[in-house]
Amino acid sequence: MSFKINLFLSVILLPVLLVNSCKNSPESSTQPNIVIIFCDDLGYGDLGTFGHPTIRTPNLDQMAEEGQKWTNFYVGASVCTPSRAALITGRLPIRNGMCGNRRVLFPNSIGGLQKSEITIAEALKTSGYATACVGKWHLGHLPEYLPTNHGFDSYFGIPYSNDMDLERTEDWVNHDHAMKERKYQFYNVPLMRDREIIERPAVQTTITKRYTEESVKFIRENKENPFFLYLAHNLPHIPLYTSEAFQDTSLRGLYGDVIEEIDWSVGQVLETLRNEGLAENTMVVFTSDNGPWLVFDQHGGSAGLLREGKGTTWEGGMREPTIFWWPGMINPGVVADMGSTMDLFPTACKLAGADFPADRIMDGVDLSPSLFNEGEGLRKTMFYYRRTELYAVRKDMYKAHFITESAYAGDDNLMHHNPPLLFHLGHDPSEKYNIAEDHPEIIADIMLEVERHQSELVIPESQLDRKKSE
Ligand code: MG
Repeated sequence: MSFKINLFLSVILLPVLLVNSCKNSPESSTQPNIVIIFCDDLGYGDLGTFGHPTIRTPNLDQMAEEGQKWTNFYVGASVCTPSRAALITGRLPIRNGMCGNRRVLFPNSIGGLQKSEITIAEALKTSGYATACVGKWHLGHLPEYLPTNHGFDSYFGIPYSNDMDLERTEDWVNHDHAMKERKYQFYNVPLMRDREIIERPAVQTTITKRYTEESVKFIRENKENPFFLYLAHNLPHIPLYTSEAFQDTSLRGLYGDVIEEIDWSVGQVLETLRNEGLAENTMVVFTSDNGPWLVFDQHGGSAGLLREGKGTTWEGGMREPTIFWWPGMINPGVVADMGSTMDLFPTACKLAGADFPADRIMDGVDLSPSLFNEGEGLRKTMFYYRRTELYAVRKDMYKAHFITESAYAGDDNLMHHNPPLLFHLGHDPSEKYNIAEDHPEIIADIMLEVERHQSELVIPESQLDRKKSE
């Protein structure tokens, strides 16, 4: 190409490139709103856009089409409480006390997320954000642990899992019967507004609908100022319930009905953002807390081609179908970089210009390079804990399992592996073919990561093992 043509192209194209890069630069947007939609026990394979053949998710499919579909996005644990603690604090549960021999918090728990932890909501509040938590909390239901004591201006939701406070009355048969008869009364779970119980048992047939209405109202009321909405659905954790409009509508049966109502809910949130003129200044993230609860057969979801589900450190337990949406800011596409719910904290802080905790070890990385096509993703490793033990580590495409155990079967299924099992998650996403013998150097490299990680670990008291004396 001649010098003249080069010069011509530079003069003509340079301003265009600059305009484009400015348009896609988060710095040009002042304090975007941040919405995290978090499901409970949704499997990697449960959305149309992630390949489910019969569950219809037109809103999520469109969200993925307009945004980014992340195919290597992880949670911090394979069950509810520690996973939620990881998202909210940007730290592994092993650092914040939200893991233990009891795997989640129960109604007789007296522990919860400690005040010394900093939450995303608290960080964003330092930058002037309005904050709301709608839905499942599960980080402590006693007053001192509730969302309104952790940086949220308001709370509306069931503070733990929707199958808790089970009332085994005379007519109790089993969960299947309760779902078939649409009898939510067996689960005497409270519905709270801020610190008050306003309904008990919570009417679960309308819970997704009401969480949605509450979220839409919050968005409308805060359209003039930056806001953070954490919408954490109680479903599709069993028992499964839907509002009447979604009853018996899905080819996938009741589980499909529930997912299709959540899809409707996502559509309502995105439509509200569009109608209020907020879409181009709002980043929405959709994901879930852990994989499908496979022991519930057809009432549990599917991890697609990933191995196993909820409760395990196989990929099906901790990799989640994740979508980022921010029209005009996020370049649409499929992202295979690694990401984690723990990364949402630093990413949100960066976008909001909020203070990022500097006095503690954080486990999240800023996702901006991947989101805004600025360069290589920053996350290179993922630590898979179960209770307080490290079961597996992923580094780049390789994952080593030191311990494997099925979801709930107990110690007879627990196996230690030395050398560890080794899988290449690119070539073998289903973790079928152990290649440890061929790659001692990869295992040695991963062991170095483990040493580095463990040398700086300080493990606090388990909040999950604190319970009322019987
Ligand atoms: Mg869960």
